[in-house]
Amino acid sequence: MSRHFYTEARSGLVQILRERGITNEAVLQAFGSVPREQFVSDPFKQRAYEDIALPIDKHQTISQPYTVARMTELLEVKPGHSILEIGTGSGYQAAILAEMGVTVYTIERHFELYNAARSILKELFQGTSIQCRFGDGTIGWSEYAPYDGIIVTAGAPEIPDALLKQLSIGGHLIIPVGSEKSQVMHCVVREDENNYADYPLEDVSFVPLIGKQGWSGI
Ligand code: SAM
Repeated sequence: MSRHFYTEARSGLVQILRERGITNEAVLQAFGSVPREQFVSDPFKQRAYEDIALPIDKHQTISQPYTVARMTELLEVKPGHSILEIGTGSGYQAAILAEMGVTVYTIERHFELYNAARSILKELFQGTSIQCRFGDGTIGWSEYAPYDGIIVTAGAPEIPDALLKQLSIGGHLIIPVGSEKSQVMHCVVREDENNYADYPLEDVSFVPLIGKQGWSGI
C-alpha cells in the first residue's frame, strides 16, 4: 500500500469517529497522526483504518479505533499528564496518548508483545514520553504513582485495589468490568483521599485481564 493510501484512510477513520460521536478535537487529531498500519502485521495493514479490532500476536487484539477514542475521551487527558495503561498490546493506545502530549507508562504481560510494542513506540516517539514495562499490570506501577489517569484495556472481574490507590485525586480510571466475555465500561473518579465515584457506562467486550488482581490464567 502507498503512503497516500494510508493518509487518505487515516482521514477517513477520523471522519468515522466524528460520525460516531467523538468530539474531543485533541483525540481526533491524534487519530489523524498516528500510523495504525504500523501496529498490525502485514496481512492486516490494508484493513488498519477500518473501525474494527484486529488480531495481534499471542491471541490478543488491537482494540477497535472507536473504543480507543472513547476511552481516551473519558480519561480527559491534558498535555503534561501522566497516564498508566494496563495492556500495551500493539502499543497503539499508548501512541495515541503520547501524541496528545501525555507521559505514558504502559505494562504488558506477554513478553513478545511488550518487546514489539516497545520497539515501534521507540521508533515513533524518540523522547522519553513512553515507558514500557513487562509484567502484571493489575498491581499497577507504584514507582511513578500517582497518575492523572489510568486506562485498563482488558476486562477485569473487579476493579483492582492497587489501581485505585495509584490514581491521583481528580484522576479518572477507565476500566471494563464484568465476565471473561463481556463487560461494562466504568469511569471511576477519585474525589478525595478515600472516596471514589463509579460511573458504569456502555457494554463492551475485551480480552481478559489476567493477573494477581485480575482473572487467574496460565
Ligand atoms: N491497548 C492495546 C492496543 O492498543 O493494542 C490493546 C490491548 S489488548 C485488547 C489487551 C492486552 O492486555 C493484551 O495484550 C493482554 O496481553 C494484556 N493484558 C492482560 N492482562 C494483563 C495484565 N495483568 N498486565 C498487563 N497486560 C495485560
